Amino acid sequence: MKFRFPVVIIDEDFRSENISGSGIRDLAEAIGKEGMEVVGFTSYGDLTSFAQQASRASCFILSIDDEEFGSGSDEDVSIALKAIRDFITEVRKRNNDIPIFLYGETRTSRHISNDILRELHGFIHMFEDTPEFVARHIIREARKYLDCLAPPFFRALMDYASDSSYSWHCPGHSGGVAFLKSPVGQMFHQFFGENMLRADVCNAVDELGQLLDHTGPVSASEANAARIFNADHLFFVTNGTSTSNKVVWHSTVAPGDIVVVDRNCHKSILHSIIMTGAIPVFLMPTRNHYGIIGPIPKSEFDPETIRKKIEANPFARKAKNKKPRILTITQSTYDGILYNVETIKSMLGNTIDTLHFDEAWLPHAAFHPFYRNMHAIGEGRPRSDETLVFATQSTHKLLAGLSQASQILVQDGTNRKLDTHRFNESYLMHSSTSPQYAIIASCDVAAAMMEPPGGKALVEESLHEALDFRRAMHKADEEFGKDDWWFKVWGPLPQSEEGVGDRDDWVIHEDDTWHGFGRIESGFNMLDPIKSTIITPGLNLNGEFDEDGIPAAIVSKYLAEHGIIIEKTGLYSFFIMFTIGITKGRWNSMVTELQQFKDDYDHNLPMWRVMPEFAAKHPQYERIGLRDLCSAIHSVYKEYNVARITTDMYLSNIEPAMTPADAWAKMAHRDVERVSIDELEGRVTAMLVTPYPPGIPLLVPGERFNATIISYLKFARDFNSRFPGFETDVHGLVRESVDGEDRYFVDVVKD
Ligand SMILES: *Cc1c(COP(=O)(O)O)cnc(C)c1O
Repeated sequence: MKFRFPVVIIDEDFRSENISGSGIRDLAEAIGKEGMEVVGFTSYGDLTSFAQQASRASCFILSIDDEEFGSGSDEDVSIALKAIRDFITEVRKRNNDIPIFLYGETRTSRHISNDILRELHGFIHMFEDTPEFVARHIIREARKYLDCLAPPFFRALMDYASDSSYSWHCPGHSGGVAFLKSPVGQMFHQFFGENMLRADVCNAVDELGQLLDHTGPVSASEANAARIFNADHLFFVTNGTSTSNKVVWHSTVAPGDIVVVDRNCHKSILHSIIMTGAIPVFLMPTRNHYGIIGPIPKSEFDPETIRKKIEANPFARKAKNKKPRILTITQSTYDGILYNVETIKSMLGNTIDTLHFDEAWLPHAAFHPFYRNMHAIGEGRPRSDETLVFATQSTHKLLAGLSQASQILVQDGTNRKLDTHRFNESYLMHSSTSPQYAIIASCDVAAAMMEPPGGKALVEESLHEALDFRRAMHKADEEFGKDDWWFKVWGPLPQSEEGVGDRDDWVIHEDDTWHGFGRIESGFNMLDPIKSTIITPGLNLNGEFDEDGIPAAIVSKYLAEHGIIIEKTGLYSFFIMFTIGITKGRWNSMVTELQQFKDDYDHNLPMWRVMPEFAAKHPQYERIGLRDLCSAIHSVYKEYNVARITTDMYLSNIEPAMTPADAWAKMAHRDVERVSIDELEGRVTAMLVTPYPPGIPLLVPGERFNATIISYLKFARDFNSRFPGFETDVHGLVRESVDGEDRYFVDVVKD
């Protein structure tokens, strides 16, 4: 397989008509003749951005020749040496292994200090050997470096795909050949490229190992990732963390078991409850009036509080075994709230069989001291005695994984180790027998990318950009001043002028006023700054509406029409993320687009001008001004006091009438009926009911509709009829047109 990893030469004289210039060009030519690409630069330029591009290099050759040392005075020499030292330091922050050569004509290693010499792979004296000899020496080192780059599975997959064997196994497209037999197939083939299709193989290929049995190169990769993530065991999963969660649950939960679950959990956890037949007892997170979900208060983790919850639950109370089988919390909520895992572990002791942290949004945390103790598993973390700790992570959400790339990490207890054979039975229960090999390779590569020191540098960079974004937004705010408006980024203000600053700024303290979660015990939680919730004007932290306001749904539709897609939109907030794929260009465009929005809003420009695509789809808005439309939607939110109903419905007292699995059984047996939302009160839902925003399940199958929830559903109905195009989506509601009127129903258990 041929890769493009050029040899990079940095020499002021690379293009000069002098001896030293012609010397280095001879070397470049000799390297080129050996089949290796060469790129020459004449200066170090911006060190940080250069080091970033440097991941494409196979080696560096840095000049310390006479010209760069200027007149040769001590001062000139030390300036040149400093440039070299800075460059090498910057490269080594990310990469311990890439070969670096110095070359010169008269200077020798005597002029170079030890800290630089230590990082070098050689010192070249240009005119002592032939360029061909020097070139071969450099290429040998560069190849050695490239040969060690690929982690085990990715390497094996590349070898397999490039060795062109005829396959009789599935997939039936046979390395892409099937696509070539039709025009649209040709198009598909050209779009995705031959390698993707050649590498799409099936588990009949022995030399790649088996994901489902964890053998061969797959197993070597999992072991490699376990080492990098500091876990005792690590399993790649190719069907997303939705599946990872079910695997963890089914490995330890059986019908009738009590489970303790974050009420703000992902639907895959609720599916796990249904599938295992468990009896859930919920931990209730706080919420603020922006609709942002806060932490579960520390007191909820007190075993005595959990015992009382069990006694108060009509089903759990009757369970034979009162020790909860598993406790699952969302470690990093969607808005970036984290828990101190060590505090939770020590509070719970051995009172719960298995702890599970759903770290779908947190695979980066293990690589930076910024997140110390605020993630489940990592270097030097103490073990529980009897409790296994699981973390499930969506590699694809914040690291460089393909969609559905996920992993399960395990920390053994001191006196209890995971039995991997038994665990794998649950793994098999939820895995496809035809895993996608490109996803396995991306799990492998995503882990290898985080290998020290690169991982820390990558995380530091996203933290850095996230903080710079917050600083830029704050600066704009200050410039607009009190009499004007601007968007706010939720969270504390960065206290430092630049860099990542002090992690304690992001730890939540009891007297902080920015979050609106009430009294939160100091040190138990932190906000991950790479999750940025942007607040639009119109609603304050107490749930009071301003005279005028800008519903976030309009801003995010505006941004979408300008090529910026938002992760999640709330009532007066929307959410963006600084993954390791973030670039300065990306977040700066966000700032400028928001400025553009403000300008269009302040001038109340008509919708047909500012959002032409949306206006074409919904002509009723064409001639309305942007500001007038914002005001119209704002006033409906205000009329329904929607911030308060959403908070109230999530905090309302919800009565479980049957276990989720029993309610599901009614559904499977069609022992359900479709009831209009006007007649829902008191009925037991058979569906998961989830409003978007915020996308957090509101009712679990088996729970009863109360008046607060129904008033929200009526709001959604009314709002949707008044503002088509801005519909509030509630999953679980069935919308049917009856005599030209939209009516809403829910499937409930027959009385
Ligand atoms: C996204 C998500 C999941 C599911 O992850 P996928 O990889 O999309 O299947 C699980 N838990 C939480 C908290 C999530 O946000």
